[in-house]
Amino acid sequence: MSAGGVPPRRLRPETLAVHLGLESDAATGALSPPIHLSTTFERDADGGYGRGWVYSRSANPTRDALEGALALLHGADACASFSSGSAAASAVFRSLPLGSHVIVPDDMYHGLRELLRGALEPAGLALSAADLSSEAALRAALRPETRLIWVETPSNPLLRITDVAAVVQVAREHGEHLGQRVAVAVDATWTPPGWSDPFALGADLVVHASTKYLAGHSDVLAGAVLGTEADDLFERVRFLQRHEGAVPSPFECWLTMRGLRTLPYRLRAHAHNAAVVAAFLVGHDAVGAVHYPGLPEHPGHEIASRQMAEAGGMLSFRVRGGEAAAFAMLARLRLVRRATSLGGVESLIEHRASVESGASTTPRDLVRMSVGIEHPLDIVEDLAQAFAGAEEAS
Ligand SMILES: *Cc1c(COP(=O)(O)O)cnc(C)c1O
Repeated sequence: MSAGGVPPRRLRPETLAVHLGLESDAATGALSPPIHLSTTFERDADGGYGRGWVYSRSANPTRDALEGALALLHGADACASFSSGSAAASAVFRSLPLGSHVIVPDDMYHGLRELLRGALEPAGLALSAADLSSEAALRAALRPETRLIWVETPSNPLLRITDVAAVVQVAREHGEHLGQRVAVAVDATWTPPGWSDPFALGADLVVHASTKYLAGHSDVLAGAVLGTEADDLFERVRFLQRHEGAVPSPFECWLTMRGLRTLPYRLRAHAHNAAVVAAFLVGHDAVGAVHYPGLPEHPGHEIASRQMAEAGGMLSFRVRGGEAAAFAMLARLRLVRRATSLGGVESLIEHRASVESGASTTPRDLVRMSVGIEHPLDIVEDLAQAFAGAEEAS
């Protein structure tokens, strides 16, 4: 970044986010970065590629700008962006040596669980699911072939908290014992930079569905893997990215960068609103357990307070009247939208078990919510009227 010659790391996150990738275009002076659609780039007269770009599957200037911005936000050395969060995750799993064993959380993003069970396990990846919020359960799942521990915290949809530093410690010990590397990858989709820093806790790779908070407006499908360029695991991820081309289009890269400009301020609003909604739900007669790590009674609250700057924008809760009562409440919402996904500016809510596949173990009375950046009282009032209407009708 060229902003007035100020070293980028010295800038505070809000400033960094606004100015990321904003070197003005040398040819035109345009302030908003150009979208380079070209798939191919001209050689110099001597046959070389002095400007660095050859073919857009390998590298594209708009994608490079996004990857530079994401790396800077994470304080990471390198970023490989993908056409979805799932493609990013898949590249990590497929970068492992043949015969590798991977430990994943037993409560995890259902799309990744399906990808692992449906395609990667049949292709030879050995898989164990364990409750990573329990160190004993993690240790029991270790094998001599374990090469990767995949962490998702808070977990989806039960908001369990995993102590990332503790997992890293177990991975290092097991690796030393085996004389083999046991890597830790953190799916930080629910905790973008500003809320968490998995690298500071020792993670080797950080993975995102940029689809969610990073892009932030429910209009981009994209993913990213962050790491260190010289690390052989990251190098293999980069190799797959460049040779398979599961990459975001230049327009999606641009939209994601546009989203990043407001990330720190959006995160603040998401977390503030989620805390207000959680407090409302805890006090409501129709609601059973509320899963939000910002609540002092949450079993992972203490660890969350240590490893997260804020408790995030996601929560889930059980409806006392069961599945039917949950659907009756959801049907009466006027502002909060019934849809899957998360991390966009608008509040989204869903009956989670019915969007997950048959293998889902999610309780039938559980509702998951992505709290948006609307005025928190409008969100709470909408929930209140929906609960009241459902109760009257029953
Ligand atoms: C959405 C999501 C993904 C997958 O991202 P896509 O862009 O939908 O492929 C992975 N992990 C978590 C935690 C998610 O919420």
